[in-house]
Amino acid sequence: MRQKIVAGNWKMNKTLEEANILASEVTGMVADEVKGDAKVIFCVPFPYLLPIKNQLGNNARISVGAQNCSEHESGAYTGEVSAPMLKSMGIPYVILGHSERRQYFGEDGKLLAKKVDVALKHGLSPIFCCGEPLEVREANGHEALVKKQVEESLFHLDADALKKVVIAYEPVWAIGTGKTASAQQAQDMHAVIRKHLASKYGQAVADTIIILYGGSVNAANAKELFSCPDVDGGLVGGASLKSRDFTEVIKGA
Ligand code: PEP
Repeated sequence: MRQKIVAGNWKMNKTLEEANILASEVTGMVADEVKGDAKVIFCVPFPYLLPIKNQLGNNARISVGAQNCSEHESGAYTGEVSAPMLKSMGIPYVILGHSERRQYFGEDGKLLAKKVDVALKHGLSPIFCCGEPLEVREANGHEALVKKQVEESLFHLDADALKKVVIAYEPVWAIGTGKTASAQQAQDMHAVIRKHLASKYGQAVADTIIILYGGSVNAANAKELFSCPDVDGGLVGGASLKSRDFTEVIKGA
């Protein structure tokens, strides 16, 4: 059985005070109300990593992740944050290749392969995002594109390294738009990704890889999406910014 994960991507939102309140409300609600063993990750802006991590203490269910890291390990890269820095702060996860990074910061598959490598080298688990824009889905090119994204940035890894990667399938047309992929669309694409992993690494390895769905997941649709056999939880943007909504999403896992 694969571990269910619900990761909240806070993006560039919240003041420090608001962030502390959100984290503490979700922590309380999860402790009081959430059964099951889904793992929760708060993917917070860089400046909040340590404060939120310290607030969580030794919470066994909830951990913290970054939203990006540099492909470089150190040096003259003003404004960047490296994987060794994250590791030194005890941060276990880092989102890589979010569609907003691909779109607004020009990150491509080759660069993301380097980021994946540097994250793994320093003991971080990448949450690697892939997903197609609307025009690609409309032209029926979504499966080919997502397979290519996975291939370009992950297929150079050996099986042991791959097992440390969490994949998040996030159709770009569903991110922040209120349009969710149907459970069938999500399941179909997750099965395509898993089959593609199996073609390279074998079925046994592919069956261990956690694949999250992201794209307008909310309290009303989480349970149906997370019940699909190949959907192992979610990467959640908007709904992760409200404690009640996020808790309800977690309950769906
Ligand atoms: C995301 O940004 O990863 C995301 C899935 O956002 P939203 O849930 O708001 O669509």
